[in-house]
Amino acid sequence: MAVGIALVWVVLIALLGVWRHGHVTQRHLSLATMDAQLMARSNARVLGQRFETLRTIASMLSGQERLGRAAFGFNTLSLQTPNEDWGDLLVEGELALLSQDFAGMAHELGIDGIYLTNRDGYVIAASDWGSDLTHLQESFADAVHFSRAMETGEGEQFGVDTVNGKPRFFFSSRVTQGAQVQGLVIIATSSDRIVPLLQRGGEDVLLTDPFGVVVASNNDNWMYRAVDDADLKDMEVVALGLRYGRSDFLSLPASAQAETMDDVLEFGRVHASVVEENFVSHVVLPIDELVELRRANLIMMIGLIVFGVLLVAVVALALAQIAAIRERAIRDSLTGLYNRRYIDESLPGLIELDERGRLAGLALVAFDLDKFKGINDTWGHDVGDKVLRRFAQILADCARRTDLPCRMGGEEFVAFLVEQNLDGVTIFAERVRARVAAIDDLAPIPAGRITTSAGVVMRRPGEGLEEMVKRADALLYRAKANGRNRIEREDQVSDALPADAAD
Ligand code: GH3
Ligand code: MG
Ligand code: MG
Repeated sequence: MAVGIALVWVVLIALLGVWRHGHVTQRHLSLATMDAQLMARSNARVLGQRFETLRTIASMLSGQERLGRAAFGFNTLSLQTPNEDWGDLLVEGELALLSQDFAGMAHELGIDGIYLTNRDGYVIAASDWGSDLTHLQESFADAVHFSRAMETGEGEQFGVDTVNGKPRFFFSSRVTQGAQVQGLVIIATSSDRIVPLLQRGGEDVLLTDPFGVVVASNNDNWMYRAVDDADLKDMEVVALGLRYGRSDFLSLPASAQAETMDDVLEFGRVHASVVEENFVSHVVLPIDELVELRRANLIMMIGLIVFGVLLVAVVALALAQIAAIRERAIRDSLTGLYNRRYIDESLPGLIELDERGRLAGLALVAFDLDKFKGINDTWGHDVGDKVLRRFAQILADCARRTDLPCRMGGEEFVAFLVEQNLDGVTIFAERVRARVAAIDDLAPIPAGRITTSAGVVMRRPGEGLEEMVKRADALLYRAKANGRNRIEREDQVSDALPADAAD
């Protein structure tokens, strides 16, 4: 029973555990995915705004007449004096003043550089001006982008320069004088200024150039490395893919692109891609907590199972204990037969059944061992106890399942039997008497020394327990008086000896 309950408990909790396991996984993944999407969207928006601002600044500067005039002047001057030393002109002239302006503006706007070029790509004014006039090709290694910026419309992103150690992003706009294009205004910003704007989720941030090379990262280890580099495959990244203008790039490592449940469980991360304006932002978040949650679930389920099984065991033990206490209360400790208390409790019910005619009849046999005091006195109390136990065993053996054998106290025993008349009861009492008299193996008591006498009565209508016992006892005394080792039944007239002979 208890084992059954414990088994049912184990199965129920195991089912609950499996259900919760799936539930926890699903829930955690959807939350993590939502986080990743929010982060990706927010990153894309922040970068988009930042780049839009830079492009607008370039566009506004290109409209300044002063810049157009300066570039035009320089273009014509350089045509006339191609081999001159331009240093004096730049230091003393308008270009030197422009450079100073650029430096102040760059500082205020929090950008790394503002440059003005002529038509050929020579930088003629710069916020970080040195002393020499340089060509973009030497300085930024991005002549391809320069040519394209000169040919196409305004506000073009210019590209990424990695020549100077730190990657920079350029935004350009053509400077015109009249209808003629005279040069470019270029706004530059370093990747150091971009990275702090991005949400990291505690992870590395990678910003790549159009070829998938990392050009901005809060972790120097990843700088200038391709994102599909083998080393990057196992890292946990918040990768930011940038698609701006016509550039289309960034391939995330396959291990980072965990989107299906199987991928997620295999790689331990979720991946979200968001297209916002001109940016595609990818965010990859690790899901270590999922493993923790699953372990916690397992531990909780095991705890519940152990608790349930223990509870069932404790309750079963307590019930067994109660049953044992109850059993002890109604049993005689020496012989194991029912005791007086049990008879007092259960007989009224039996008597009532008999009174209502529901029993064939209720009979009582009262036994008393003969000369038992002598046995104690001769062989000791322990031997006396052995005799009592043997007698009880014989009584129990002769009784049927419906009979009620009982030790009333001392060496006095009774048995209640459901019987129609005295004949059946007498057969029972006689069998007990005969078997007791036949005891020959209870050393040191000689064979035939142990005997019992008994009185047998049928309950009379209206009679209670006490009256029945009284009548049975009277017959018992008659048996003693008539010589012991015999049965007396009330319907037989016997030649009773005087009562005082019964000692
Ligand atoms: P009679 O044939 O007239 O019944 O003689 P008797 O010696 O059996 O007389 P009595 O009923 O007076 O003696 C009963 C004795 O049973 C007295 C007591 O010492 C002994 N006795 C009572 N309870 C126990 C018991 O639990 N163990 C043992 N060994 N003896 C007991
Ligand atoms: Mg007695
Ligand atoms: Mg006796």
